[in-house]
Amino acid sequence: MLNNAEEILSAKKRIIEVSRELQELGLLVRTWGNISCRIDEESFFITPSGIKYEDLTPDMIVKVSINDLSFEGDIIPSSEKAVHAVIYKDRQDVEFIVHTHQVFASCAGTLGFRKISTYYDDEDIVIPVAAYALPGTDKLAENVGRTIKKYPDTKGIIMANHGTLCFGKDSKEAVFEAEKMEVACDNFLIDVCKTDMHHGVEVGYNSHLEDGKIVYDIPDTPERVKHIHQEIYRRRSDVKYIVHNKSEAVMTVSRRASHMRPLLDDFAQLIGYSVKIPSNEHGKDGQSFHNIKKNVNAVFSLNDGAYCVGKDEDDAMAVAIVLDKGCIAYTAVLRYGEGHYLSLWECIKMNRHYRKSYSKLADIAH
Ligand SMILES: [Zn+2]
Repeated sequence: MLNNAEEILSAKKRIIEVSRELQELGLLVRTWGNISCRIDEESFFITPSGIKYEDLTPDMIVKVSINDLSFEGDIIPSSEKAVHAVIYKDRQDVEFIVHTHQVFASCAGTLGFRKISTYYDDEDIVIPVAAYALPGTDKLAENVGRTIKKYPDTKGIIMANHGTLCFGKDSKEAVFEAEKMEVACDNFLIDVCKTDMHHGVEVGYNSHLEDGKIVYDIPDTPERVKHIHQEIYRRRSDVKYIVHNKSEAVMTVSRRASHMRPLLDDFAQLIGYSVKIPSNEHGKDGQSFHNIKKNVNAVFSLNDGAYCVGKDEDDAMAVAIVLDKGCIAYTAVLRYGEGHYLSLWECIKMNRHYRKSYSKLADIAH
C-alpha cells in the first residue's frame, strides 16, 4: 500500500530502475515487456505502451484500476494491463510484476507443455505454462488467472508462445524470479531438447539505401551477397535497411531447407507467418530462389544466415533480434520432436493488429 506522494513517486522511480536492471540482465529489449507495482487493493502503476525504457520518466507511469482496467491521464498504459490486474486480484501477496519476452523461457513455452519441470542450482522447480491466447485479449487474462489458481504459490509463469510473468512481494523478488526462470529454462532446453545456444545478433554484411544508392557497411562485400541485397531493394520498395544476421541459431536454421512457421507471436508480428529456407541459391536459369516477399521481413540464404529488413536500422535490428529467438525456438522444437505452432488465423490476427496499431516495428509493446 502506497500512503503518500513521496511513496508514490518512489514507486514510479522504482519501476523505471527495474526496467534498466532487466535491460542490463538482457531480459528486456526495446519496448517489449512491461512492469507494474501495486498501489493498493484497487489499483496499480504500469509502464506505458510503446515507449522505450530509456525514455521513461515517472510522469509516464500510468495508474490502472484492478477491477475495470480504467486508467488515469492521457498516456496509454501497456496493452497487457489485464494480465497484471488478474494477478493483483487473485494474489494479495503480490506487490510487483515484471512481464518479459526473455529468450529461453519464451522458447521453452513453445513446446506444448503445461508445466516446465527443471532445476536451478540444486533446486528442482516447476514453472507453470498458461495456454496461448492473443496478446491484450480477455482470453489471455483468463488463461493466466486459471494458471495462478492452479499454482497458488508460484512466483512466475510462462505465457505459451509469448513470454513470462514474474512477481513477488517486492521488485527484488520479481526480478530474481525472472533471472532464475531464464537459467532454469536454459537448463531445460539443454537437457530436454539438446539445444545449447547463445542468443544475440551476429552481424554479417549490412547495407542501407542512401539517395537511392546501396551503401554497404563492409566495402569488400562479396558479389554473391550484393546480388541478394540488390534483389531485396528491387522487390521491396519499403525496405531501406538490411541487417545480415549470422547468429548461431539463425545459421543453424539456414543450413537446411525448410518452411518455418511461427512459434512465438512476436515472430508472427514482426517477421511474417511463413518463412522459407531455400534448398538452393539459384535455379538453372540463374533466378534467385530467395524468398523475397511483401510482409516477410527475413530472407534466408542457404547456409549463410538471414537478411533482416526494415525501413530503418531500428526496424531491421528488431527483426534480427526476434528472428534469433524464433530460430532458437524452432531448433528446440525440431530436436524435441514436437511443439505448439501458432495457427495461421492467430498469425494473421497478430500481423494485422500490429499493422493497424503501430507505425513502427520497434514501437511494438506487449
Ligand atoms: Zn508481451
